[in-house]
Amino acid sequence: MNYVLAVDLGATYVRVAIASCDGKIVSKAKERVVREGRENAIAKQIIKIYENLIEKVGKVTIDKIAIGSIGPLDMRKGIIINPPNLPFEKIVLKDPLKEYFKADVLVLNDAVSAAWGEKHFGLGRDVENLAYITLSTGIGVGVIVNGKLLLGKDGNAHEMGHAVVNYDSPFKCGCGRIGHWEAYASGRNIPRFAKYLAQTMFKELLNKSILKSKIVNNTLEARDVFEAAKKKDPLALKIIDELGKVNASGFANVINAYDPELITVGGAIALNNPKELVIDPILKYLDMYVVNRVPKIEITKLGDDIVLYGAVAAAINPPL
Ligand SMILES: [Zn+2]
Repeated sequence: MNYVLAVDLGATYVRVAIASCDGKIVSKAKERVVREGRENAIAKQIIKIYENLIEKVGKVTIDKIAIGSIGPLDMRKGIIINPPNLPFEKIVLKDPLKEYFKADVLVLNDAVSAAWGEKHFGLGRDVENLAYITLSTGIGVGVIVNGKLLLGKDGNAHEMGHAVVNYDSPFKCGCGRIGHWEAYASGRNIPRFAKYLAQTMFKELLNKSILKSKIVNNTLEARDVFEAAKKKDPLALKIIDELGKVNASGFANVINAYDPELITVGGAIALNNPKELVIDPILKYLDMYVVNRVPKIEITKLGDDIVLYGAVAAAINPPL
């Protein structure tokens, strides 16, 4: 029997799996992504992880390779150009892997790959119109419309984390532009937004808040806000409510653009916190922004492996 190789290349971890042609993962491993070396350093790391895996499962024939990766991509060349979250100008994936495995290599955006994984292995199996949204260090979106996975000319379709949620915003996004969804609600930027809210709209709550010293000392992390909200800290609950508005406007942009029947949500923020603090505040405010009929919104059941499952699905059933 022949196999496929699936890769999830994130900003922190690279996950590699060998899967059978019917989609069963037979072996997988996760490592921290190398952050130095030449443009083929990550391809070499992937090969090394594969060689470690086959020491356990024995030699296999790899028919096809698919990678769900951080962007921005040049999908056809199979390279990543100037990724904001990894210290490489260029990451070359396709050519070195193709040469080593003598197999076709497909490189997709990670959230796009996740949407394909949801369609094949997750909650989207019976659905033709699906969006996957990851709320994590950054915010990413993958969309299937009429059963077709949307890719774009270079594979960078729907960079919705950079959708504008406030045109007159005080916040600059990591990409350098202003008012983007990610600039408010990504794991990296929640602390800045929280501090802003604590010093403007909710000043009177700051003194009594368990978040006060972290806000004042600039050591606040996104997880602190959720932890404080779980303890019913009034300031944290207000911040969660405002995040609900921002996320609702982001979700509404996705719903208004693509008209999905199901949205599944993943990423560390969604997976590691109670639904009441992530999804419910979005549902509370969605009607303020959305024009189309509101779809079902659920947390993905594929968890941290969703991009990897997407890569398995893409290797077996290429979306091109
Ligand atoms: Zn941006």
